[in-house]
Amino acid sequence: MNSLTNFPPSSAGSYGWEPAVFSLDAKDTLFAINKQRVQSLGKKKPAKPLILNPPKTVEMAYYQALKKLVKYMTKKTNEIIIDKFPGLKELYKAEMNLDGYGNEIVNTVGGIDFVVSRIFEEQAEQVTLSMFQETNQFSNNQFKRQSVKVVGVELLTNESFLKPLANSWTAANVDLIKTIPSQYFNQIEQLVLTNVEKGVSTKELRDSLVKLSGKTEKRCMVIARDQIGKLNGQINRSRSVSAGLTNFIWRTAQDPSVRDSHQMLDNKKFSWEDGADGLFPGQEIQCRCVAINDYSIFY
Ligand SMILES: [Zn+2]
Repeated sequence: MNSLTNFPPSSAGSYGWEPAVFSLDAKDTLFAINKQRVQSLGKKKPAKPLILNPPKTVEMAYYQALKKLVKYMTKKTNEIIIDKFPGLKELYKAEMNLDGYGNEIVNTVGGIDFVVSRIFEEQAEQVTLSMFQETNQFSNNQFKRQSVKVVGVELLTNESFLKPLANSWTAANVDLIKTIPSQYFNQIEQLVLTNVEKGVSTKELRDSLVKLSGKTEKRCMVIARDQIGKLNGQINRSRSVSAGLTNFIWRTAQDPSVRDSHQMLDNKKFSWEDGADGLFPGQEIQCRCVAINDYSIFY
């Protein structure tokens, strides 16, 4: 067992975008043409494949983009809340005898939420679109380099899968990005209310705010790693199938953090149709496994 095995708790397993069931009709694949191209080189068997890496650079780029938005959000929030905190404490005491106590806190947090959420909404579309393109570029480069290395020629692919995939992935990720401020401001509202009730010092409040900022940035990292990994896996699967490839070898990151259930799949061959009981590399939360295509089909 390792720390990734149980992370996140199973209840959080189904958030965000999940790869769709994918099938490409055999007549739409470029198997026959690619086989001819490979055989025309006169080689007897495929060469040793490259070791492929997960799309770490794109994950980091997505994380940085989200972190920038979160930094803006937390800085703005902390400034306003810290500034208003002494007044909020006084008001709360005065409001206690009335029905609507805590209203001022709700209004203050709601006001920041309104402004910040609009910025997230404005940025989300552009961020997700550019991350989709970067992931595709990464995946496409790997696919080309691998096929040149193994069969000596760039395989032809049918890229018609890209547009619908871009639409579903970016839409789901825009929704996911919008949950960052909505979750954060729910927590801020609770936090301020609790701290006003307890009558803590401004310094104590500041510490809790900083802690919540850190927690929110960590969530960005989970989103970035998970969503880019899933996308990279699905792009590779779709592109491979379109070239006429039917099987792949499962390859783990070959380090101690690999979850036990994926360690068991390492170096085993699976079909692009079924995967390992419907599971594919990169699909499970923060999975860093990759698929190495089996090119023997062309020989
Ligand atoms: Zn894995």
